[in-house]
Amino acid sequence: MADNACQDIRNQVMYYIDNELSEEKRIGLVSHINDCAECQEYICHEQDLKTKICQKLKDNYICRCDVQRLKDSIKDKISGFFQS
Ligand SMILES: [Zn+2]
Repeated sequence: MADNACQDIRNQVMYYIDNELSEEKRIGLVSHINDCAECQEYICHEQDLKTKICQKLKDNYICRCDVQRLKDSIKDKISGFFQS
């Protein structure tokens, strides 16, 4: 069951994953998670989600590079067209 302590912990999970929690809060969170299977599951799920989000951002970054390369190759073609 998710009591208030669990709710507090879950509110902090995103900050924990981003390493934005103070030392004190991080220790509190970790010690709660050691004792609470439900929060363990929750944090695993969030972490998994975060990994997927990072992966998605990385994919987008690669896509942007591809777009730039495409633009460059089009620019080459256009300037080649004008030169001929
Ligand atoms: Zn809990």
